[in-house]
Amino acid sequence: MFTSMKNRSVIVTGASKGIGKGIAKVFTTAGCKVLVVARTLRNAEAAAEEISQAGGQASAIMGDVTSESDMENVATAAVERHGGLDVLCANAGIYPQTKLEEMTSDEWDDVMATNLKGNFLSTKACIPHLKNSDYGRIILTSSITGPVTGYPGWTHYGASKSGQLGFMRTACMEFAKYGITVNAVLPGNTLTEGLIALGEDYMETMAASVPLKRLGTVEDMGNAALFLATKEAGYITGQTIIVDGGQIVPESLEALAEA
Ligand code: NAP
Repeated sequence: MFTSMKNRSVIVTGASKGIGKGIAKVFTTAGCKVLVVARTLRNAEAAAEEISQAGGQASAIMGDVTSESDMENVATAAVERHGGLDVLCANAGIYPQTKLEEMTSDEWDDVMATNLKGNFLSTKACIPHLKNSDYGRIILTSSITGPVTGYPGWTHYGASKSGQLGFMRTACMEFAKYGITVNAVLPGNTLTEGLIALGEDYMETMAASVPLKRLGTVEDMGNAALFLATKEAGYITGQTIIVDGGQIVPESLEALAEA
């Protein structure tokens, strides 16, 4: 089962740290060749080096998902380095926290540009190459925040993460004729550098609200993405997998405490 990933060519955006690096690690462990994309080249190189040291096939490239030309360069580089392109993991995202009353128009635009337009630009750049694969896969990293839940300070973020699913549902229809599937992983709170920056209190409170009583790991997210990337998942498109330890399930704090 799930033997189809060996030597698959994979792009992971936002892979110098956090969930993206976890996805890159899980895919290389399954035998894929991964292009690690981030804006800060030295961090992308460090992540690729760490993966290579562990026996995986990874290399780095600088790319900003808000730039059309950067995304075209990234897609071309994957084809040149790996001999083709099979999977795009559109993972790069930012989550600055600002309440709506204080939010500036620029802050709104920045979040939309990275989280939503970044999905459009990376997908558009990769499609011509994914069409040449015997099967193509696009996996978006969305979130529970927006599609399922809300959190103060994240109106822009929640809107962008819901927007990704609207994008996915039409893109999957347009690309079905090429055998390309488009799906999304919706992480709950996951232990990443970005989340740790939100502070110890935030992490402890969030872990306590999860029925499985721990935050997610980047490998939890990578495993879900890997499943969606397999040949065996080829009849799944336009769908979401929530990976949150059951966080969205309890209907109240009392329900959680009683369990
Ligand atoms: P993170 O630890 O802050 O890492 C973000 C990664 O994205 C870095 O590699 C960063 O590198 C890159 N990046 C940021 N802006 C970029 C841009 N414009 N172009 C290219 N790369 C860019 O973030 P994370 O927590 O792993 O989150 C990754 C994804 O998971 C996001 O889409 C986020 O919304 C989603 N998510 C996270 C959680 C969580 O709990 N952590 C929960 C739900 C969903 P550079 O800064 O060098 O570019």
